[in-house]
Parts: sequence; structure tokens; C-alpha cells
Amino acid sequence: MSVLIFADQAEGKIKKAALEAISYGAKVAAQLGTTATALVLGAADQAELAALGNYGATKVLHAADARLHEVETTVYTKVAAAAAEQENAVVIIFPHNFDGKAIAPRLSARLKAGLVAGAISYPDTSNGFVVKKSVFSGKAFANVNITSEKKIISIIPNTFPVATGNGTAAVEAFSPAINDADFKVKVVQTNTLSGEIPLTEAEIIVSGGRGLKGPENWGIVENLAHALGAATASSRPVADAGWRPHHEHVGQTGLTVRPNLYIAIGISGAIQHLAGVNGSKVIVVINKDPEAPFFKAADYGIVGDAFEVVPKLTEAVKKYKG
Ligand code: FAD
Repeated sequence: MSVLIFADQAEGKIKKAALEAISYGAKVAAQLGTTATALVLGAADQAELAALGNYGATKVLHAADARLHEVETTVYTKVAAAAAEQENAVVIIFPHNFDGKAIAPRLSARLKAGLVAGAISYPDTSNGFVVKKSVFSGKAFANVNITSEKKIISIIPNTFPVATGNGTAAVEAFSPAINDADFKVKVVQTNTLSGEIPLTEAEIIVSGGRGLKGPENWGIVENLAHALGAATASSRPVADAGWRPHHEHVGQTGLTVRPNLYIAIGISGAIQHLAGVNGSKVIVVINKDPEAPFFKAADYGIVGDAFEVVPKLTEAVKKYKG
């Protein structure tokens, strides 16, 4: 019996969300009196794999097959199922990111394992196996009891701490039986957004809305983001109007983010926008309208013209950081 954690990587580097998942999985393993095994697919640095012991993994299964370098969800599901079987995994943990959202439900169907997608709590095993998640766009919580023998949980990024230990994991090569016919999708080109912090991994996000009037004014958002080491995001109308690329749009129909700090500039705070950002730890709203609904969801609010406030804020951040 074990707890298996799907630890995804990008360019050979284990993602932060995966480190959170390993740390979470190690806690669940301790709760169940067993050990945590991380599953890594594609090329990865061996030293980095062994270092996953720092986060609580006792073992790392590494499927280094070059064909697994790009994510192919059906094949990844097959590999995860083979790993789950080999390790006799009773609980399987995924980060609730793009990969996790695509693979966890497929694995759930394949293993007939109950799935809680988007967990925000550790399992409560005092009476069943109950995991909490938010529902109705963050308006309510559901405590879900997974009653199947095998259980799958995907955890919301930036919700659980990354453990800081100093263990070393045993790295084992893992070679599940896959063949070329298993690959239904072929990646023909990958465009990397160089230098940008992926929104779902970002700890600080500076986001702009229609209040910024046009794409030519985005410099003030970017300057503040740069000063803070933050990623940039936008409301949906901004992306629809082509002021910003669609991968930056957050909300009900865009990305769900959960940074430590979300700064909303010139965004009204419509329910559909809040659905994607209301899990942020601290929300700062800058809006010239004191009645803007976003202020109700804000931890800190600045009523003022973004074009005056934001450059001043940027200067203050730069001064503070020296
Ligand atoms: P506006 O509502 O136009 O607000 C602009 C704000 O800027 C105002 O509050 C104004 O006071 C302020 N402002 C103006 N000038 C300044 C200034 N100089 N300084 C400071 N503040 C200023 N929206 C999303 O964002 N994400 C989604 O995923 C999403 N999904 C949707 C799904 C559905 C089915 C529907 C119907 C809508 C969805 N929307 C979504 C749209 C949503 O309802 C809002 O229309 C949208 O979020 C508003 O964007 P905004 O706040 O940028 O613009």
C-alpha cells in the first residue's frame, strides 16, 4: 500500500505545484501509516529527482522514455495506472493544474477510483475519507466522502505548503509497456512564453481591466508587476478586445488563480471574474469608483485613478526593495 503523487515537470524541472502535491501526499501517507512515491514522466535531472525526498517522497518512479517528454494525456493516464498498480497505491494525488485536470478524471474512470477535483483540505479520516472542495464558483464548500477503495485527489495550487526536509528519495527507473499506437496526439510545435511567470504558478499577480482604457496603457501594469516579480493577468473583456492575450484572462471562463497577492487594477469585480480569483490570499483593489463591487472582496482597497495610483505604487515598491 502506498500514496502515489503525479509530479509533473516542465523542461526537466519539477513544477512548484508538484512539490506541493508531494508534500501533501507525504502527509496523507503518514496519516495512513504508509509511504509516498512520486511519479515523474519525461527527462529530468537525477539529482533533482533524489531531492524530492526533501518534500517527503521516499521513492521516485522515473519513466524517462523520450516519447513521454511531451504531455499526452491518454498515455500519461496509462503510465499513471501502471504505476498505481505496481505501487499498490490506495491514494493518488495530482496538482489541480492543466495536466492534473486532464489526467486525474481519466485515471479515475480507469481505476474506478473516486475523485475529488480541486481539494482544499487534507483528508479527514476520522469518519470515512472526507475531503473539502469549493463549489458554485467559490460560493460554498462541499465535504466529499470518497468511498471507493482507491481514491484520487487533485489539490489546488498555492493552497498547501511545500515541506522543507532533508531526505533523499530512492530513484527507480520505471518502464511501463507503451507503444507508438498509444499516442493519439502528437505535439508538432511548442511555443514557450519566455521570461513570463506562468499564472497558475505565480505567487503575485497584477491584473488589469477595462478601466485601463486600452492596450497602450498596459505599461503601468507591467511596470508594477516587474517591480514585484509578479505575473500579469486581465479580465475577460480585455482579452476579448485583444488588448491582452487570452491565456492571461482569469475568471469563470478563464484561469483560476490562487496567488498570495492579487492586485486588481480597473476591474469592477463581476461575479464571473471573482470566481477565478477569490481564492487569493490577499486581494488589493485599485478602482476610481468607491462603489465597485470588487471592494467587497478586497483585503485592501485604494479608491483612485489607476493612472495616478499605480505609478506611485510602483515607485514605492522599487524604493522599498532598494
Ligand atoms: P468593467 O466592468 O467595464 O469595469 C471597469 C472598472 O474599471 C470599473 O469598475 C471602473 O470603475 C474602473 N475604472 C475605470 N477607469 C478607471 C481608472 N482610471 N482608474 C481606476 N479604475 C477605473 N469576466 C472575467 O473577467 N473573467 C471571466 O472568466 C468571465 N467569464 C464570464 C462568463 C460569462 C458567462 C459572462 C456572462 C461574463 C463573464 N465575464 C467574465 C464578464 C464579466 O461579467 C464582466 O463583464 C467583466 O469581468 C468586466 O470586466 P472589467 O471589470 O475589466 O470591466
